[in-house]
Amino acid sequence: MDVAPVLKNFLWKLGSNILATWEILFRKGILTDPLCPFCLANTKPTFHALWSCPASIAVWQECGRRLQKLVIEQCDGLHLIKVLKDILDKEGFLEALIVLPLLWLRRNEYVFKGRFHPPSQLIMKVRNMAAECEEILQEDPSGPEAVANIPPKWMAPRDGWLKANWDATLNNNSRRTGIGVVVRNEMGGVVAALAKAIPFVEDPTAIEAIAVWHAVNLCVDRGFHQVVFEGDSQIIVSALNQTSPS
Ligand SMILES: [Zn+2]
Repeated sequence: MDVAPVLKNFLWKLGSNILATWEILFRKGILTDPLCPFCLANTKPTFHALWSCPASIAVWQECGRRLQKLVIEQCDGLHLIKVLKDILDKEGFLEALIVLPLLWLRRNEYVFKGRFHPPSQLIMKVRNMAAECEEILQEDPSGPEAVANIPPKWMAPRDGWLKANWDATLNNNSRRTGIGVVVRNEMGGVVAALAKAIPFVEDPTAIEAIAVWHAVNLCVDRGFHQVVFEGDSQIIVSALNQTSPS
C-alpha cells in the first residue's frame, strides 16, 4: 500500500467531515441499523468510530504512552486532527495519523465483510506503516503535518454566499488520481460534497483544473448561484480570476 495518498485522502475526508459514517449509510438505505456496529451506541458517529467506541479505545490502549492516556472531548473530524497535533509530539502525531484510517478500514471490513481484526493485528500494521511513513517524512521535512495536509483555517463566505473548496491527490505509484469538493454555507455547514477517483492525470495543475471543473459542476447541478471558489493552486486561482477578452 502506498501510505501517503491513502492517509491524505482519508484525513482530507475526515477534516472536511464527509466520511461516510454508518449514520449516512443508514440514511441512504445501505445499512439497516443506525447504531454503532460494534457497541450499539447511538452517538456522534465519526468521533465515536475513531475515538470513543470501546472497539477503538482497545486499539488506542495499545499505542504509545501519550496516546493511551489522552482524553479528548467529543468534536468533529477536523478538531480531532488539530487536537492530536497540538497535544502530541511528532512521533505520537504520526502514530495517531496512521491509526485513524486503520480504525476506519477495520470498521468497514466488519460492517461489509463480517471480518474483525483484533487490536494486536492493527498495531502490527501501524508499526509496519510507521516505518514506511518515516521514509516519506525524510523526503518531506515539513513532517506529519504535510502528510495530514491539515486544511488552513477556513474563512466563512459572507451572508447568503457559499464557499467551495477542492482538493486533489495524485499517486504516481498506483497511477491513481482522486479529487474532492466540499461546499459550505456561511455557518460552515456542508451543503454539498463529492469525492471520486478519476483516470490518472500526471500534471498537478491539470488535476487541480479538473477538480475545479467538478466543483463548478457540482454547484451548477445543485442550483447554487452565489459561490466563492477557494483553492490553493495559484495558477488555477489566477486563471479563474482572469476575465476573458471579448
Ligand atoms: Zn461503538
